[in-house]
Amino acid sequence: MKIAVSSGKGGTGKTTVATNLAVTAARAGRSVGYLDCDVEEPNGFLFLKPQIDQTQPVNVSIPKVDLDTCNGCGQCGRICQYSAVVSMNKQVLVFPDLCHGCGGCWLVCPTGAITESHRQTGQLESGSTDGMQCVQGLLNIGEVMSPPVIEAVKDAAPDVEILVIDSPPGTSCPVIESVRDSDFVLLVTEPTPFGLNDLKLAVEMVQALKLPFAVVINRADVGDGDTRQYCQRQRIDVLAEIPDDRQVAEAYSRGEMACDAVPTYRELYSDLLDSLTKRVPEHAG
Ligand code: SF4
Ligand code: SF4
Repeated sequence: MKIAVSSGKGGTGKTTVATNLAVTAARAGRSVGYLDCDVEEPNGFLFLKPQIDQTQPVNVSIPKVDLDTCNGCGQCGRICQYSAVVSMNKQVLVFPDLCHGCGGCWLVCPTGAITESHRQTGQLESGSTDGMQCVQGLLNIGEVMSPPVIEAVKDAAPDVEILVIDSPPGTSCPVIESVRDSDFVLLVTEPTPFGLNDLKLAVEMVQALKLPFAVVINRADVGDGDTRQYCQRQRIDVLAEIPDDRQVAEAYSRGEMACDAVPTYRELYSDLLDSLTKRVPEHAG
């Protein structure tokens, strides 16, 4: 089963929930994989500390133009929806950062002047810890398009019983790419006005994707009761309420797992795993 852990905004404790959930499942004897799809700022490996045994580049397609073969027809510039290739006076300029690698320009080029080339936009790292297989994606600094790296992370997913997908925060394209084929989405939020606002957006996103979901309220003993009331009104299950615990914050700052640092958290994450297992359809692979 694929469980995506997501949040409408950063800093809600999404990675803490994802990593502790994965470790709890692995220690319960399940076969588990952890994917860090938060490729702009992956930090799950700081806590899981896997032994990295494989690194590979993530490449995207871009056009390569042979000006000697170009007849200046301009068809490449006209088909490109992203202004990534511009044809003027028999000169063709390519802007690799804008290219989405759709292949339209080399398909329409009548003279074969454009061929497919590649450039690296990120990197994959794979490893294991506690018998759990982990993959993270790292988007190169300065790159803006994270979906190809997220797609590469998901393509490298191990064949396991439980796959925990740590998604980027927010509700934009990278998040949708991360969660779209999950069996269940866990939305991590905080009981604050900002947290509630972003939770509502995240709920709209998973509803639009028609994915089953539930909420985890982190730092549940700070803020107000509006988030609980919203979940009640919308009939959204709250699977766990995690208190604001200084011991957990200190463990986090040392790069330690909450379920290692504070014994009561083992039970909390074990109960959360049970709740999820009951909600995910049995046929989910
Ligand atoms: S591959 Fe697609 S996005 Fe990239 S330059 Fe060609 S038409 Fe534009
Ligand atoms: S489509 Fe091909 S031939 Fe036409 S301008 Fe572009 S590169 Fe040149």
